[in-house]
Amino acid sequence: MIKVLGIPFDANSSFLKGTFMAPDRIRLMEKEGSANCFSEYGTEIIENKSHNDLGNLIFTGNDSKNAFNIIKEYIATHIGNNDKMLCLGGDHSITWPIIEAFSEKFDSLNILHFDAHTDLYENFENNLYSHASTFARILEVGKIRSLTQVGIRTLNTHQRNQIKRYGVSVVEMKNFTFDFIKTLKDPLYISLDLDVLDPAFAPGVSHHEPGGISTRELIQIIQSVKNNIVGADIVEYNPVRDVHSTTAMVAYKIFKELIAKMSEYPVDELQNNQVAS
Ligand code: MN
Ligand code: MN
Repeated sequence: MIKVLGIPFDANSSFLKGTFMAPDRIRLMEKEGSANCFSEYGTEIIENKSHNDLGNLIFTGNDSKNAFNIIKEYIATHIGNNDKMLCLGGDHSITWPIIEAFSEKFDSLNILHFDAHTDLYENFENNLYSHASTFARILEVGKIRSLTQVGIRTLNTHQRNQIKRYGVSVVEMKNFTFDFIKTLKDPLYISLDLDVLDPAFAPGVSHHEPGGISTRELIQIIQSVKNNIVGADIVEYNPVRDVHSTTAMVAYKIFKELIAKMSEYPVDELQNNQVAS
């Protein structure tokens, strides 16, 4: 079974708050009735059929250490029984504790990361937990097998150095092609920062970075992935910046495509050495 979890936590967003409202706004797109519940290849995405919605985690206060413990432990508990999980953020910092839980279950986790930004800052504003440092925190532990970043268009010198230091595969926007898809490995985790999309398609994000991919290109990538996707997140949707819920609807559309794709292969079809014993 695929589980869906809302993680309404945005204490580590460096520029704007508001992503804590995202999980409920995205769910609203299903309930308001302007779109049907089918993925483009015909999977019906409804609760208790395609997935179970576990609701939202509840946080008391903005303490990140405490919040990240809650996130990690909750997810570790809920993916134990070969279940998959898709989380709705929240700012991108929540991906760190999510990956900690997944990399304890899977020996050789591979991450496909969509973003305008690498989120590889060693230190951003002296906040260990910053959403600009998420993938530095994940990589310095050394437990994941590969990280592929797609849609990047904000590289500075420090980030170029971090990419070399950690051996990250980067598909920069300036030379974007679909060729990376065939290089992806199992088990795969997909982390989707919605600012990978051009702001013309997804204005409801905290950091508008022009020159991104289109909604259609993102859908085409997801539909083309041949891997066993064990988990995913959709982060950085910020209702404060949205225009008539346009971006909420983009998030809901991608949610349906991701659930459909994740349901193609069960976790127990992975080879034994890919799941930690
Ligand atoms: Mn990000
Ligand atoms: Mn970003």
